[in-house]
Formats: sequence, structure tokens, C-alpha cells
Amino acid sequence: MIELKDVSTIYEDFLALDGVNLEIKDGEFVSLVGPSGAGKSTLLRLMTRELKPSQGEISIDGINIAELTNKEIPLLRRKIGTIFQDFKLLSRKNSFENVAFALEVSGAEAEEINEDVPKVLNIVGLTDKAKNFPHQMSGGERQRLAIARALIHRPRILLADEPTGNLDMLNGYDVVKLLMKINEFGTTVILATHNREIVNIVGRRVISMEKGKVVRDQIEQGKYII
Ligand code: ADP
Repeated sequence: MIELKDVSTIYEDFLALDGVNLEIKDGEFVSLVGPSGAGKSTLLRLMTRELKPSQGEISIDGINIAELTNKEIPLLRRKIGTIFQDFKLLSRKNSFENVAFALEVSGAEAEEINEDVPKVLNIVGLTDKAKNFPHQMSGGERQRLAIARALIHRPRILLADEPTGNLDMLNGYDVVKLLMKINEFGTTVILATHNREIVNIVGRRVISMEKGKVVRDQIEQGKYII
């Protein structure tokens, strides 16, 4: 469960989030929509403790994440996978190595790496691209690789920040279908996007933001209304 109580974020003197209250339950698929600058990325960055709120409280599983110590933050981040519009892949590593690296930095042994990496590559349909470098893959494949990397620690929450922004409709649809499949297996998914078609295809909870505020929260079969 993710809970935001009266959360505001101020960058220098700019109010980017203005008193946001939200509850997202385990296993939900939430589309977070709104025009550019509405505060969607800021909301996601608060959940990973990249930012602390200027005011209010964010708790994940009942823990106020502003109070986590530097040692505890990696544990939070293992609970939360993230993907971005620009993929953020390592260009000198192939698919297998991109995913393996996420395990290496957390101290995993070779045996675990050799067992787990092929499993997640299989989930995202990239088994036959394990040796390809990012520049040898399509945009859709790159985003699926980023999803594989995000899944490697079996996160309970997956945050996707404009994941279809660099993709055409067909590839974007593939990526969103994959996010829906991951959600069916129990992971909470929060999809920040301004892609109207995609949101309407998903048809689940839709939270609309404007100028730092939540202006609409459609719990079921939501549509992109703004
Ligand atoms: P969205 O993801 O909906 O496009 P953001 O959360 O990225 O919106 O940004 C919300 C507002 O905060 C925007 O007006 C943006 O310019 C501003 N903003 C974001 N990051 C910073 C920053 N580091 N410093 C100053 N202003 C920022």
C-alpha cells in the first residue's frame, strides 16, 4: 500500500505538487495522467525517495519513507522497479549484461545471475536477443529490456514514467500489454503518461493531475479526460 497525505513539493520557489492525497493498494494498475509539467514525475520520484516531500507524508507498507536511513534506502528501491522514456540502458553491455549488472551491484553470485537473468529475459520475450547490444535492438525491444532489468529484484511495485514516449503506437501497445501481464502476476503498476490511446486501452484506475494537484480519480474503467 502506498499512501500520500497532504504531500507538497517545492523546487526552489516553484510549487510542483500541491497537497496531494492518494491511496494505492497492492496489486492495482494505476494510470497517472496529465499534461507535461503537471507533477507526474515528481510524484514518482517521491516514491523512490529520490526526493523528500517539502510537506506531508508518504508511506509505503506503513513506513514513512522520509524517515529511512541511507542504509535502508536500497531496500526500498529493491521493492520498486522503475522504467523511463529514454530506457537508461548501458550501451556497452548486451541485453544479458544489462540485466546482470543490476544483480551484480547488489552483490549477487554468478550462479544466481545465470539462473535469474534468462528467466526475466524470457518473461519480456527477449530470450533470442540476449547477446544483442541496445543499438542492435528496436525501441520496443529496448523498453522491454529495461522492464526485464526492473523486474530482476522481483519488485512489488513497478513505476513507469512515460514508457511509451519514444515508441510508435504498435511498440507502445506491446510495452503496455507487458505491464498489464506483470500486474496480473501481482505487481502494483503505476504508469505515468500523456498517451491518451494507451490509457483508454488499459481501462483501469486513472488519476488525473493538473498543476500539481489531483483533479480527478476514476477508480474503475477510467478514461483520459483532460
Ligand atoms: P510531469 O512529469 O507531469 O511532466 P514534473 O513532475 O516533471 O511534471 O514537473 C512538475 C513541475 O516542476 C514542472 O513545472 C517542472 O518544470 C518543475 N520541475 C521539475 N523538476 C524541477 C527541478 N529539479 N527544479 C525546478 N523545477 C522543477
